[in-house]
Amino acid sequence: MKKPRPAEVFDIADLRKWNKSAAKRKVPMRFGVIGDPIEHSLSPLMHNAALRACRIEMEFGAFRISPAELGEALALFQDNGFLGLNVTLPLKRVAVELMDELDEDATQIGAINTVTIRDGKSIGSNTDGFGFARAIREEFSVDLRDLRILLIGAGGAAHGIAYEAARAHCERLVVANRTRERAEELVKRLQHFFAGPRVLGPVSRLQAIGLKESELRTQIPNVDLVVNSTPVGLNRSDLPILPGRVLEPHLMVFDTIYANQGTPLLEAAGAMGARGANGASMLLHQGARAFEIWHGQEAPLAAMRAALSAG
Ligand code: NAP
Repeated sequence: MKKPRPAEVFDIADLRKWNKSAAKRKVPMRFGVIGDPIEHSLSPLMHNAALRACRIEMEFGAFRISPAELGEALALFQDNGFLGLNVTLPLKRVAVELMDELDEDATQIGAINTVTIRDGKSIGSNTDGFGFARAIREEFSVDLRDLRILLIGAGGAAHGIAYEAARAHCERLVVANRTRERAEELVKRLQHFFAGPRVLGPVSRLQAIGLKESELRTQIPNVDLVVNSTPVGLNRSDLPILPGRVLEPHLMVFDTIYANQGTPLLEAAGAMGARGANGASMLLHQGARAFEIWHGQEAPLAAMRAALSAG
């Protein structure tokens, strides 16, 4: 199959003069993904395939938007008739403050990845956790409730993932983050999910740790699934977020990064005999749920999946 062209990337300067350029577009652009970096995003490819499959005459674009530009950008998207946005790093948490409304999950999670623009209002939702749960079932044939999970990262994506794992009553959740205080804050938000009588030997069911090798090493024998929800690995030259030598063959390793088929972490996992999967299936399922929120109809999963595997 011919490789599709990467999406054109717009920025805040393009948005400021959107009126003029929009008039020249054959198909109106009404949806987009915002973040920085954004060049690697496969969301335009996947959502444009979905729009075409459903014969919706609208386009989905990519916009490089920094946290400082977000307020202005959201106003410009509204003024220019946009209907929905996906939000990616580093905007998922800051965007919460700029919404007119949040749905129930987004309120609990404290991060959003989906904005619906309706009746002059921006409504924030979070579909990352849903996408994550589906992806884990699809890739490893297990449910979150049966897993002891080591989640690396405590940013916007990690908030959705951790909330979903906690809500599913996973056996154990350890959040490891470079800035340890952020892992501690995230764990605090989830404590009520782990208050029940389930006991798991000497290790705690919910824990925050730093990213030191010694701390990670003590966790590995007591976890089944390792998840990378940091951007480390987006560049092929990055070192794996945790050193290959701490990984063990019993692990399932899920890297939310999908830009590289074999991310540095997945290569390290493979070398240690552990099973691994990249974030493409999470991207698919979080995108499908966002499509359903925006369009009120079932997402064309097969068309979206085919677009991703060609991308
Ligand atoms: P974010 O809110 O900016 O959070 C980034 C996280 O990564 C923070 O915990 C940060 O730690 C950590 N981090 C950043 N650079 C690091 C480094 N050099 N070493 C160690 N830790 C580092 O970003 P996000 O929105 O959560 O996105 C994170 C990643 O998830 C992105 O790569 C994105 O592509 C991926 N993602 C994939 C999907 C999917 O559908 N497959 C969905 C969502 C996100 P500090 O707190 O110490 O700064």
